[in-house]
Amino acid sequence: MKVSFPHMGHTWVGIHALFTELGVDYVMPPFISGRTLSLAVQHSPSGLCIPFKYTLGNFIEALDLGADTLLQAGGAGICRLGRYAQLQEYALKEMGYDFRMVKLGVSENKLKSTLSMFREVSDNSPWLRVWSAFRFAIAKIAVLDDLERMVHKVRPREIDKGNATRIFQEAIKAADSAGGYAALKAVKRDYTQKLQAVPLDPDADPLIVRVTGEFYVVLEPFSNLDVEIELGKLGVEVHRKTFVSGWTKFSLFLNPLGVNENARLHKAAMPYLSRDVGGDGWESVGEKVLHSKDSDGIVHLLPFTCMPEIIAQNIMPSTKEDIPVLSIICDEQMGKAGLQTRLEAFVDLLRRRKRAGRRLVVTHH
Ligand code: SF4
Repeated sequence: MKVSFPHMGHTWVGIHALFTELGVDYVMPPFISGRTLSLAVQHSPSGLCIPFKYTLGNFIEALDLGADTLLQAGGAGICRLGRYAQLQEYALKEMGYDFRMVKLGVSENKLKSTLSMFREVSDNSPWLRVWSAFRFAIAKIAVLDDLERMVHKVRPREIDKGNATRIFQEAIKAADSAGGYAALKAVKRDYTQKLQAVPLDPDADPLIVRVTGEFYVVLEPFSNLDVEIELGKLGVEVHRKTFVSGWTKFSLFLNPLGVNENARLHKAAMPYLSRDVGGDGWESVGEKVLHSKDSDGIVHLLPFTCMPEIIAQNIMPSTKEDIPVLSIICDEQMGKAGLQTRLEAFVDLLRRRKRAGRRLVVTHH
């Protein structure tokens, strides 16, 4: 059995660790690229959301590298994510590929379904072994998430633009190579020190912008054309709540006593949206309400045709909380130059607003 799992940001480091610990033969697909997208676009209905296309393209690339077992989210969720696995299985079989699709139930007992899926592909390894491999995988992702939060702070302040991003890329490789908890701890320590040693501009006064929206396009930099790096270059400190380690904590109930950020967001969104609409739409509205006082602006990332985020996008302009929102629709037509121009205009607006010390009236895109 040769197992594969599609890319989403640096999640692959955890998946790689998990399968190595479990002795699973793993085919890592190529990183998401223009090729992934063009393969996907040829074989997807055009109206489907971009995460569907990227994951389908990545599956094609993995199958071409010899994978015969694919892992994908499934289940009966509110948005179409729950149907991805069936649709992709159908599309790939139509293309002549011979493989098995193992579906992760995202709406039922999440922790149990996730562990069962990994157990199944590891030839029914003992539960204890699956659990310990899973914990190690999450630990790797959590270290990278913590480092990325630091990177968000360094980027807008660094004198030589690009240092923080380069250090983070090295950290991803180092975390991947870490063979145990001690080595992982050393990676965290070393790369924290490297980030702390980056020369900063003492006069920097970064704007605070929250990046929110649909999970996949927030976490996969290729799909949002590195929006956080671009914001950093423009002197913006990015704040974001969406991290894989955070999702596993709250969605998989690994932290039942912790403060659930999502519960706070749902409460904040209540006056405008009182129920889950699927995906991350409810949370996006909540972020605008909850963080209107501690942020200068919001960048809202939404995949083209994503129903939950379209609902959020339409509600955001009418909330009484006054904070500029730039909605960026992520699809295969998106271009870097267009994105940069929009970000520059948005950041310029935020700066003038901050300088004026008052709230300007902003038109929502
Ligand atoms: S949340 Fe939106 S983009 Fe994500 S799977 Fe659902 S419909 Fe597609």
